[in-house]
Parts: sequence; structure tokens; C-alpha cells
Amino acid sequence: MANKEIPYKIYLEESEMPKAWYNLRADMKNKPAPLLNPATGKLMSAEELSDVFCAELAKQEVDEDTAYFPIPEEILSFYKMYRPAPLVRAYCLEEKLKTPAKIYYKFEGNNTSGSHKLNSAIAQAYYAKKQGLTGVTTETGAGQWGTALSMACAYLGLDCKVYMVKVSYEQKPFRREVMRTYGASVTPSPSMETEVGRRILEKHPGTGGSLGCAISEAVEVATNTPGYRYVLGSVLNQVMLHQSIIGLEAKAAMDKYGIKPDVIIGCAGGGSNLGGLIAPFMGEKLRGEADYRFIAVEPASCPSLTRGAFAYDYCDTGMVCPLAKMYTLGSNYIPAPNHAGGLRYHGMSPILSQLRADGLLEAISVPQTEVFAAAEYFARAEGTLPAPESSHAIKAAMDEAIRCRETGEEKTILFGLTGTGYFDMYAYEKFHDGKMTDYIPSDEEIQKALSYLPDMSKYDL
Ligand SMILES: *Cc1c(COP(=O)(O)O)cnc(C)c1O
Repeated sequence: MANKEIPYKIYLEESEMPKAWYNLRADMKNKPAPLLNPATGKLMSAEELSDVFCAELAKQEVDEDTAYFPIPEEILSFYKMYRPAPLVRAYCLEEKLKTPAKIYYKFEGNNTSGSHKLNSAIAQAYYAKKQGLTGVTTETGAGQWGTALSMACAYLGLDCKVYMVKVSYEQKPFRREVMRTYGASVTPSPSMETEVGRRILEKHPGTGGSLGCAISEAVEVATNTPGYRYVLGSVLNQVMLHQSIIGLEAKAAMDKYGIKPDVIIGCAGGGSNLGGLIAPFMGEKLRGEADYRFIAVEPASCPSLTRGAFAYDYCDTGMVCPLAKMYTLGSNYIPAPNHAGGLRYHGMSPILSQLRADGLLEAISVPQTEVFAAAEYFARAEGTLPAPESSHAIKAAMDEAIRCRETGEEKTILFGLTGTGYFDMYAYEKFHDGKMTDYIPSDEEIQKALSYLPDMSKYDL
């Protein structure tokens, strides 16, 4: 099929939309390592996990055999309000780059929360409601997850308490107000409201906080409040499952036109959008049906996949959550506050970590100023204002397209454009004013943070 016959945007008909989420673990030979109880070092069962998470989500968390989970009718109806997300052929960017490569991106920033996070927020809120809970707690870093969860909770009539990383709380007042508009309560973290918050503030007075701190606070409040559970916007297997909707739609749209990507690129914070985007393609690769290259792109200031250790670690700074085996910089690692976007989490999805360890997923890191330069180039070419997180994937996709210009290869590139940049104008301002810097941690800093990994030999396993 000739290039130009492919529309600028490929939409799916309602009847073509995925009706089930795909669980990549079912096709993985080496399964991701299970979550462990930090007190005993023993495997966490779904039952134990359901003290913190909703029961149905705890089941999804530990299920590594069921390949497809039907999407409940109520969630399908909610998805119809903002899905399908368009698959865009980046004709204008290709032309501007003078590349023979064909570039596609899946745009998840078209809903009010502004990112892909709504895909899992509605699922998690739905299962909480179905269980008869009254509310949920969570953390939010840059604010997208908190916004998405507030929208989902407002829709279903659930209370929502959000612990927002303090630097973001101060830098992004509009995010905060969007959450409050949807009825959520928003507290800057670390706060004096929780035991763990007080402990962290005592140790690090004046800290701008981190996702790890905010998670500890949200978990503490959820476990101490009757009728509440904790929900998390990334990293977990259940989130990866819900986000498979991104990849399933992208693949259905590409299949419709007989397009097969050679390389699939996504930004990686906790790994949920990338895990969701690659899921059905990686499934084909694991089953030996097709081959693709997969590239995770992370910020040079928080390089878990490229410079971290593959080890069991705490998921949060307060060390109350289960232990996960993942690429990590250590739960004490707090990225430099000059890092503008999300993607600040110290660890990475256990699923993506295992794929990386098995050589199935490549990973690169990119410095912040280059990311913003790519974001601006993209905005001027394609019109869409990208989120800084998404722009990590843009940067890598553009580099790949430029290599194609040099070699003459007509590769097909697919990348995830996870969100809109409207809430990140302070970061763009810094970039335009020449005040943006690149902070790259030294080996010593990383080694120091890694020295706090849990000593697994203390458990009698
Ligand atoms: C949260 C977020 C990310 C990173 O999270 P993942 O779990 O790695 O996908 C990327 N882009 C946007 C716009 C986000 O909101």
C-alpha cells in the first residue's frame, strides 16, 4: 500500500475497539519475580495484597497465566468517552526531518487529565467501587495520575485523597486545582499528616519530596482508614494490564492498513505506558510470530534501566510496600529537583525489568535539554504540544529517523505520545529562557543510593 493512502490519523470504529486487556506475563517464559513481604521476605499472596489493594486488582496483580481479561462493560463505556486514541502518521515531522522513515505515534493526551493514566485510573476506581469501598488514596508526582484518578473517582462517586510530591504541588498549582475540581483532596508530600511523612521530614527537612515518599504516605492513610484502599498509577502488573489497551488499539489500527512497525519506542517512568504500548507486539515476539525492536527511553537524571541494579528493592521510601524485583536506583534515590517532567520514580515495572534482563527490551537515557529541544521541534512540525515525559520518546524516535536519513533505510517507527504539555509551561519557560540544565548523577551517587538496597540474605528463604 502506498504511503499516502494511509490517513494522517487512523481511528478505530467502535466495533473494532479491544474488548479485553492482554496480560503479557502469560507469554513470558521468564516470569517477573513475585512481590515479597518486606517483613518476612515471603511471597505476597493475592489475599495478603488485598489488605492494601482492592481484591480484584490484587488477583490481577499475581495472575501470570490468564492471557486476556475481558474489560467490564462499565469501563468500556467510560473508554468510549475518550477512546479510541488516534494513531497518527507523522507526515509533517517526516517531511521536516527529510527522513525515509515512516513515523507513527499513538496520542494519549486527548482527554482532560491529559495522559494515558486515565486508562488504569478508571479500571482501579471501578474495582474499588464494585468492592463497596468508600474511597482510595494515592500519590502523584507531576500530577497526571492524581488528575486521572480524580476524574475516575468523580465519575463513580468515590472519595479520592491524593499525596502530591511537594515540588510539583508548588510548581503546578493548576494541576492541583483540576484535581480539586473533580472533588479530590490534595496534600503536599511529605506532610505532617502521617507517621511516615513526619519521619521523612525529620530526616530530610526541607525536602521537595519524591514519589517514594508520597507512596508511603498514601499507603499509610489507606491502611488506617476503614473502607479505603491504595491505588498506584504505574509500575504494578495490574497497571500494565490495563494499559495494554494502548498497544491493542495501536496494533488493530496498524493491522487495518497492513503496517508493521520495525521499532517501537516509549518513555519509561514506572513503565506503564511503554509496557502497554509494546504488550501485543512483544507477545508476538515471545511466541515467535514476529520480530520487533523495543526501546525504553528514560531521563539521564533518573536512569533506573540503564544504570540501576536488577534487584529486589522497596517500592517506597518508607519501606512499607511489598518488595519488587526490578531495575532500581534504590528507594532513597531522589532525582535532582531541576528535573522538570515526571519519570522520576527510582524503580521500574518488574515486567519490563525482566524483559530488559532477558535482552528483549533495549534502554537508553537522554538529557533533559535535548528532550525539550526535540519537544519544540515536534510541536512546530506536528502542531501537538507534547508532555516532557512523552518528549523522551520523541527524541529517541527523531534520532532513529535521522539515522534512517543517513542510511536510506525506510524503517517504520512507532512511538507513544503519552500526554499533553499544557501543564508543563514552567519547564518550557525555563528551556526557552536558557535556564534549563542537565543533571546527570555521578557513579558515586548511584552507588551510594544502591547501598541501601535491602539485604535479602537476612530473610530465611
Ligand atoms: C506518568 C506519565 C509517564 C510515565 O509513566 P509510565 O508509567 O512510565 O508510563 C509518561 N508520560 C506521561 C504524560 C505521564 O503522565
